Amino acid sequence: MKRIYFDHAATTPVHPQALAAMLPYFSEKFGNPSSLHSYGQETAQAVEEARKQLASLLNADPREIIFTGSGTEADNFALKGIAHKLGSKKRHLITSSIEHHAVENSAQALEKEGFTATYLPVDCDGMVDPESLRRAITPETALVSIMHANNEVGTIQPIQALAEVAHERDALFHTDAVQTVGTIPVDVKALGVDLLSLSAHKFYGPKGVGALYIRRGVALEPLVCGGGQERGLRAGTTNVPGIVGLGMAAELAQAEMPNRMAHAIKLRERLIEGLKDRLEDYILTGHRSQRLPGSASICVDFIEGESMLLLMDQEGFACSSGSACTSGSLEPSHVLKAMGIEVRLAQGSLRSTLGRENSEEDVDRFLVVLPQVVKRLREMSPFKKK
Ligand SMILES: *Cc1c(COP(=O)(O)O)cnc(C)c1O
Repeated sequence: MKRIYFDHAATTPVHPQALAAMLPYFSEKFGNPSSLHSYGQETAQAVEEARKQLASLLNADPREIIFTGSGTEADNFALKGIAHKLGSKKRHLITSSIEHHAVENSAQALEKEGFTATYLPVDCDGMVDPESLRRAITPETALVSIMHANNEVGTIQPIQALAEVAHERDALFHTDAVQTVGTIPVDVKALGVDLLSLSAHKFYGPKGVGALYIRRGVALEPLVCGGGQERGLRAGTTNVPGIVGLGMAAELAQAEMPNRMAHAIKLRERLIEGLKDRLEDYILTGHRSQRLPGSASICVDFIEGESMLLLMDQEGFACSSGSACTSGSLEPSHVLKAMGIEVRLAQGSLRSTLGRENSEEDVDRFLVVLPQVVKRLREMSPFKKK
């Protein structure tokens, strides 16, 4: 049976050209970029080339890019780095109630250290209202952190408007753009953000490498201490192959973005529209238009999501119940809860995130298989339909 991967928000396969770019840096070009000899110069140059490739994708200056070990680390670095830098003057943070755990748990860790945090609500589409930020912000607010697009429902936030509100009140603005960088246009100057997190493996780069954009002039405390790598902001021997892969993935994303977006939107709309007359008692989650190109999440009523996932997997479809982190627990996702979706409905959540290697045939097969799976599950459902 053909396996079909509909879980691109969890991770993506490395692009063959990104892989090819990485390979020499595992073997013949193995030098430590901090070394002064030619082995080191060769890899130091490759890292700087990757920094330029990424900066070009973001419309940033290469000096504004700090490579990290993941998107999670970039999020931790942004929140803790700013809080610890400004903590003697300002001890309040604002974030949203639908953030990735990397931001949510960083904010909670800072609360344990004595910072206060406000978690802004979202509407039923998963959207944060800039007016609610305006009401929550105080002279004590050091940092506002709102994700660019949500990984479970795909809703894209009005980052530019939110960043403006933060700046009016002298707070810094960070966005977790792990779901958007390399997927939709992300221009740090147009968005007006001070800090932005990203991760290579969400846009056809390798796992275990990310970056934090830090606008020139913004100072923060390092998270990882050690040698002076990354201008003293992120110690640890440089992950050269990973960074080279990230750089190539960024260049490819920039070149292929219009085609990738058009392809993903076409498939997503085929899926969303196709479900309408094939499935009953379900809702589409997330904003109808302000959403990631390949993102289609639904909640199916009278169904337990985990069983739906397993049966879909038996039919060859790799989907998700929401986030990779909430899978395995019966607790419905904090994102769907914050959007006001009833627990019963939220338990039947199914996220499909489409990518460059998917086809119309894949979507058409999904449209046949999912209704069959739902029918089977409803026949034996403990939450019988009335
Ligand atoms: C995947 C993801 C992260 C974590 O990035 P890693 O590189 O996997 O640690 C953070 N935020 C969002 C929105 C994500 O989708």
